[in-house]
Amino acid sequence: MLKNLYLQRSRIVPAMGVINGLSGLASAWWVFVAVTVALGLSVAALLARPAMAEEYPDQVILFKNVNIFDGKSEKLTEDQDVLVVRNKIHKIDKEIPTGGSYEVEVTTGGQRKIKVVSDFAPSVYEITVMEAGAETTKKEVEVQVIDGGGRTLLPGFIENHAHLMLPGPTLPAMEANSTWEDLAIHGTKMAEMYLMQGFTTVRDAGGANGGLRRAIDAGEIDGPRHYPSGAFLSTRGGHADFANYTAPVGEASNFSRLNMAQEVDNVGDVHKFGRNNFRMGATQLKYMQSGGVVSAFDPWQLLAGSPEEIAAAVQVANEYGSYVMAHSYRKKAIMTALNAGVRSIEHGFMFDCEISELMKEKGAYITTNLTAFDPNLFDIPAIKQVPASLRKARSATKKFGNYIDNMKKCPAKRGFHTDCVGTVDACNIQIAYEKHLNNEFFGSHASLVAMTSVGGEIAALSGDFMNPYPEGKLGVIEEGAYADILIVDGNPLEDFSVVGSGDKWFDAEPRPESPETIRLIMKDGKVYKNTL
Ligand SMILES: [Zn+2]
Repeated sequence: MLKNLYLQRSRIVPAMGVINGLSGLASAWWVFVAVTVALGLSVAALLARPAMAEEYPDQVILFKNVNIFDGKSEKLTEDQDVLVVRNKIHKIDKEIPTGGSYEVEVTTGGQRKIKVVSDFAPSVYEITVMEAGAETTKKEVEVQVIDGGGRTLLPGFIENHAHLMLPGPTLPAMEANSTWEDLAIHGTKMAEMYLMQGFTTVRDAGGANGGLRRAIDAGEIDGPRHYPSGAFLSTRGGHADFANYTAPVGEASNFSRLNMAQEVDNVGDVHKFGRNNFRMGATQLKYMQSGGVVSAFDPWQLLAGSPEEIAAAVQVANEYGSYVMAHSYRKKAIMTALNAGVRSIEHGFMFDCEISELMKEKGAYITTNLTAFDPNLFDIPAIKQVPASLRKARSATKKFGNYIDNMKKCPAKRGFHTDCVGTVDACNIQIAYEKHLNNEFFGSHASLVAMTSVGGEIAALSGDFMNPYPEGKLGVIEEGAYADILIVDGNPLEDFSVVGSGDKWFDAEPRPESPETIRLIMKDGKVYKNTL
């Protein structure tokens, strides 16, 4: 039963006899690992994920002496230790000892009597491997102790709306000239940059398929967990139609060939290209329901797609147990989307209290790029140099003026969103500035919640079938959650700048490869940066 379950879930063929000193266990490769720390501490729950024999950790990581921001609370929990086993947070407590006993239960997956070792060596946990009622061997596991020195330990950040595969400088230029090589190289660099800025998860809001995630998850390149949307779904002339002005109806564009943007003009198109997105590795769908400022053919007030077409996108997503994120500006667009079952409103600039109520009723989220409310918006070359775009930007900012006040009056669950299209260096600056604006508009606590626990809830909307990381929570520091962890200098609730924010946008100095104040970056239990 267990074996079947494991085979189904992991599709890994068992490797026989791979562990030295564990002879007799080769047939019992489907093991559960339980950790208990000696000295009378309670036995921790079994880890949720069955492991292959070769996955016995050689090392576990114990963070000592940290104050924790758990992703939600308004105060830090002081003087804590956090034990990471494999890729999960296993235990959070005061004074977790640096040695103990570690039991591996094979064959049944059930929990057995824990043997407490009293005279263990410091910085070593002892693993006892047991089979069919008999002890067979013991294994020592090194405990890597990382002293946090009283700094703050918090969840890795979550970006809810990025475009890792859109290098710019403008979307029409990319549509005209980009090859898959340009995009793959850019995506690789963007993924590394995001991770080193402290983002351990990125939801991609259009343009990326599943290939980038495969490369990251296979360890080929460094990057955050990745939730791609596949091709933008957009009507002809809508916000993801970047084709040349004279492009004939029905002609495949460069972006459609690369499945980065698809034209959907009826329910059938939405079905076809929505399903193709999931086939190509998308974890959710992105529907372009409103127009935009820098795109050529669409007024920002556009109401693209009939209610039936939007409902068709929701239907396809629901077939996969997933959801739709909709690029929506006007109130009418937002209300239509929510009523059709869209769970994530992107931008949502005309947000108000009625929308907030409907969002609560529907369990929906909003993510907003706050750079849209910055005077620097008019310095973007694609806006400044294009009279039509400049006109659109001016009219939009007038209409969007109540967003921040309404959000404070009638709060909704809001995720962090940068929406940068452009070079890696420019996006690095924009991310730091977006962090800064979050703190300016909403304060440190609400910003940190948006960047962590709410982001994790949004990622989880992709559901059990399409979520590539379904075995633990993201964006929180709690037992059983994925070990996506940052350690920063100081207390980000009091001094938000320690998260690596930057108070300038277009005239900013180039950003460091990774902010100095982010001292440690761990994703999935692996340390990518440690300057402690
Ligand atoms: Zn976007």
